[in-house]
Amino acid sequence: MASPRLVSTWFDGHSPRAQACELRIEDLELVLTVDGHERRYPVRQVRWAERRSHGLRQSELPDGSLIQHAEAGEWDAWRQASGQRDGAVVGWMQSWRATLVALGATVLFLAAAWVWGVPWLSQTLAHQVPRPLEARLGEQGMQQLDRLFLQPSALPAQQQQALRQRFTSAVQRAHPHGDAPPWQLSFHQSKALGANAFALPGGYIVITDDLVKLLADQPDALNGVLAHELGHVHHRHGLDLMVRAGLVSALVGVVLGDASGFLATVPATLATQSYSRDAEREADAFAARLLDQNGVSPSVMVAFFERIQREEASAGQKRDSEEGGPLPIAISSHPDHRERIRFFREWRPD
Ligand SMILES: [Zn+2]
Repeated sequence: MASPRLVSTWFDGHSPRAQACELRIEDLELVLTVDGHERRYPVRQVRWAERRSHGLRQSELPDGSLIQHAEAGEWDAWRQASGQRDGAVVGWMQSWRATLVALGATVLFLAAAWVWGVPWLSQTLAHQVPRPLEARLGEQGMQQLDRLFLQPSALPAQQQQALRQRFTSAVQRAHPHGDAPPWQLSFHQSKALGANAFALPGGYIVITDDLVKLLADQPDALNGVLAHELGHVHHRHGLDLMVRAGLVSALVGVVLGDASGFLATVPATLATQSYSRDAEREADAFAARLLDQNGVSPSVMVAFFERIQREEASAGQKRDSEEGGPLPIAISSHPDHRERIRFFREWRPD
């Protein structure tokens, strides 16, 4: 079948002079004839005019020259008759229905990325973050939370030092080869957090005076709580949260064409996000092992959960109004005490 020909206008890219040309498509090549002279261009290398509107059709050729065709309808008919299918993409672009489909596909992609891609990627990335950066993120988070929630501890320095020493020994006994992450423990009063504890990237562990008092007669359970927090540090859960929030805002930024939100969200993350159930289980398992390696039955933790539950009941409605409490990563905000009581009660070494 002879390929259809089209008489059109060509600019050589150097002079502004329009020249009459003849076009045809042959074996995946655009053949352009000017003054009896043939030029051949691979069809794929031509930047074809987009079929978006009526009016002039302009296509750019790989050597910088240009074809202009005034009659859009005629051009499109020639393209189609030559078996050139820009139909799909352009047709979609013309259809609002396809726009909705594309939007839906984007949403689905983001949802899939959120459900599967982000957790995997953030965990992978969290383990790539160098220690000094992790420490700086933790330090920033610490300053923020200090401003928001924390007051200086009223516990005697001696008592603080004794508790710190007790936990240090427990960690050393459980990790004699020094494979525990670096950590530092500080004591604070906190009206907002009540009896509570939390950990930040870089090994910052905070325990409130109220929790120390709540477990005054249960030093092993207190060590268990601290070990749970050290477990979050060890598995880099806080970092994972930060990276995850950063990834999501980066993803949104890519879609909206603006990535400046990336860093802005990082500080707020710790105040709004909670750890996953799996992360809590990992931290609990870390705590159970540490207690066990100190010759302490992990079931000592039951006292902690029962007392925390009682605290919650007496604080009652006040807490219910703020879902998860003011700091979702803190230990008293973790859901499902019953499941965790069972875990510590039934824990056996592997
Ligand atoms: Zn936790």
